[in-house]
Amino acid sequence: MPSLTRTEAHRRSELLTVTSMAVDLDLDQGEQTFGSRSRISFDCAEPGATTFVDVLPVELTAVVLNGRALDAAALVDGRVELADLEATNVLEVEATMAYSRDGQGLHRAVDPADGEHYVYGHLFLDAAPRVFACFDQPDLKAPYAVTVAAPEGWLVLGNGAATKVSPGRWELAQTRPLATYFVTVCAGPYASVLDEHDGIPLGIHARASLRTHLEREAGQMLEVTRASFDYYHSLFGIRYPFGEYHQVFVPEFNAGAMENPGCVTFRDTMVFRGAAARDEVLARTNTIAHEMAHMWFGDLVTMQWWDDLWLNESFAEYMAHRTCVAATEFTDAWVDSTVARKAWGYAAERTPSTHPVAGSAAPDAQAALQDFDGISYAKGAATLRQLIAHIGDDAFIAGVGDYLRRHSYGNGTLADFMGFMERASGQSLTDWSAAWLLTAGVDVISVDRADGAVERTVPARFPADRPHTMDVAGFTGGAEVFRVPVTITADRTVVEALRDAPAADLVVPNAADLTWATVTLDPESVAAVPTALATVPDVQARAVVWIALVDGVCLGTVDPRVLVRTFGHAWPVEDNDSVLSRTSLALLGRIIPTFLPPAEQGWAEGVVAACAEQVLAAAPPGSTRALVAARTVARASSDETLLRAWAAAKDRPAGLEEDSDFGWIAVRNLAARGLVDEDFVEGRRSDDDTLQGRLNALMARAAMPSADAKAWAWTELTDNRSRSNYELNALAQGFWLADDLAVVRPYAERYFTDVPAMTEWVGEDAMARVATLAYPGRVVEEATVERSEAALGGGGLSAGVRRSMVDAESQLREALRSRAIFG
Ligand SMILES: [Zn+2]
Repeated sequence: MPSLTRTEAHRRSELLTVTSMAVDLDLDQGEQTFGSRSRISFDCAEPGATTFVDVLPVELTAVVLNGRALDAAALVDGRVELADLEATNVLEVEATMAYSRDGQGLHRAVDPADGEHYVYGHLFLDAAPRVFACFDQPDLKAPYAVTVAAPEGWLVLGNGAATKVSPGRWELAQTRPLATYFVTVCAGPYASVLDEHDGIPLGIHARASLRTHLEREAGQMLEVTRASFDYYHSLFGIRYPFGEYHQVFVPEFNAGAMENPGCVTFRDTMVFRGAAARDEVLARTNTIAHEMAHMWFGDLVTMQWWDDLWLNESFAEYMAHRTCVAATEFTDAWVDSTVARKAWGYAAERTPSTHPVAGSAAPDAQAALQDFDGISYAKGAATLRQLIAHIGDDAFIAGVGDYLRRHSYGNGTLADFMGFMERASGQSLTDWSAAWLLTAGVDVISVDRADGAVERTVPARFPADRPHTMDVAGFTGGAEVFRVPVTITADRTVVEALRDAPAADLVVPNAADLTWATVTLDPESVAAVPTALATVPDVQARAVVWIALVDGVCLGTVDPRVLVRTFGHAWPVEDNDSVLSRTSLALLGRIIPTFLPPAEQGWAEGVVAACAEQVLAAAPPGSTRALVAARTVARASSDETLLRAWAAAKDRPAGLEEDSDFGWIAVRNLAARGLVDEDFVEGRRSDDDTLQGRLNALMARAAMPSADAKAWAWTELTDNRSRSNYELNALAQGFWLADDLAVVRPYAERYFTDVPAMTEWVGEDAMARVATLAYPGRVVEEATVERSEAALGGGGLSAGVRRSMVDAESQLREALRSRAIFG
């Protein structure tokens, strides 16, 4: 299917003004398809001109333009040509559409816990034509009036306030002008918690089988929602414009959440069914605040074309962290950003696919999707923090308010945004913008202790002159012995205060993590870090050091064993939950299984498991610290007796007695070690016959090391077309967990033909994730790289699969290089 090009979009928005959209959906036609009727009222600036409407039906029943029936057979590649337009037009399209199983369009899921069906619309980025006929581009906004027929007993939610007008018939209030990609309808027997704040009706919804958990969790989520509304109202000086505010936790959702005005959708694993560590609550709080920021930035003012997607995401990413710190209990949100978000962005900078924050070409809509990554989010947010350091917070906030007021219900561009920043700050930002926003790459920052110099190494591939505002701190024996604020504008800057600073065991550039840079520790600090990190009193500086070490391992400048040894000393005394969670996951998920040679992996896992046992024994029972430690033990331990007990819900740590997901971690570990069989996993599944339970069972079966289990899992992954997006993810995640390379090696070859072929039935959004998870990155051998290169060179890959393979191959090369350097 051709993706809308920027040129086509530009031409169509020159030509058309959409004045209103009426959409009627019939969700009461069975489990496979739904009825869709749309009535588009639009003006044409050049009467007589020709354009096209986007629609992707199973069957197109009728297309009527200004009362004249068009030939439904004229549908080609998702487009129907509209000729002889008048100054004012009405287009009516009637079609039968397919529900999706890949999370794009109108997704339909069945909850095995009670057999109930749930439907939700996810129209980002170009899936709207899978639900209704429209001019699918972000700058043709229109008010929507949506009506829905649904089975009796279902609740219907959408962008406008929903009213049940008769049994099974719902009318949604006409909305303010919306872009096509954030129209949604959620329907099913959802359970609800309703509230109200400052005149805004609030609702939180999830599957009926999650009702108990929803009711337990809703209080915290509503509290964050209220606090965020208050904060944004005071900061922007513009009231929330979209009426009611519903947050719907939906099954099998590809992303974290989606900012549909008035009806945000979230992945429903955020309604915790078991124990939740504090960093998980922080992440959910952050997501709630992020989507709310989009109501202004993204929804009220939308980017004109997808090349400015960063404007939405960088801003929401920045604003959500700011809101957490200013308006919630999570005042350490920036520490979480360092270990959870920026680590993701730095990894993206190291791949060949890295790109500038802004100004990427995005010649068509699908190309833009490829740039929706750690650069758009984490680097973009870090760049905004540098912008604020550069022009001051007052100017930034004033500029944002002016931008939002000027373009309300319309669209903006990078040039518009920077224009408002320049006017508010009274300074030219041309050079700043060229270096920070329009040039890819990350500078390496280090300190030359002898001369007191801060050094900046600019990547040769992407020459730029980025100024950095940050601080450098020194730590010795559990105390901060100096902290020097610096702004560097050259590749070497001698800082007098640094030269005169007292000696320190550990010197940390960018200690407050204000800038975007790869931190390279000086040799004395690397030598000291395994024991010194544990004594650093400042958690933000510790987080920066952790990520510096992880980056250093990936770049081949730090021996992975240094990271393992540092973990052994520093992790047991770490008191930040985000750091605890993220570092243990980084070690167990990537560093140990790929950077260390197989012979040393057991030793390193043992270090992690021992640390976690130590923390679990010492932490207050039921505390979040005990929870993170218990999960880490369950992941890393080789103690079969312990794992079997935990899998069987015996002798579990306090607070986890009933926690099914905790039990599944132990089951997965046992399965990957070949210690349990399919019947065992099946038994656990019948005890937990839920969406989550079934996914966990799939992952555990796929993790089993036998040749039969691998053959079964591979067929289910690459050949069973009825598998949902989440089932594919679970199979792919489990598949590579077995540590016997001989069993999985054949699939390292098959990946390159079998997985790309799945694009025939799996949408790009879901496919990109599956292609990443299924990549044979654990087969750390030159042969894997060669096969990968051959596949990339052979063509025929979808953009999403290609991007996933490029990035995964680059990670594989990092591991190979590290093994070559350090053994
Ligand atoms: Zn977002």
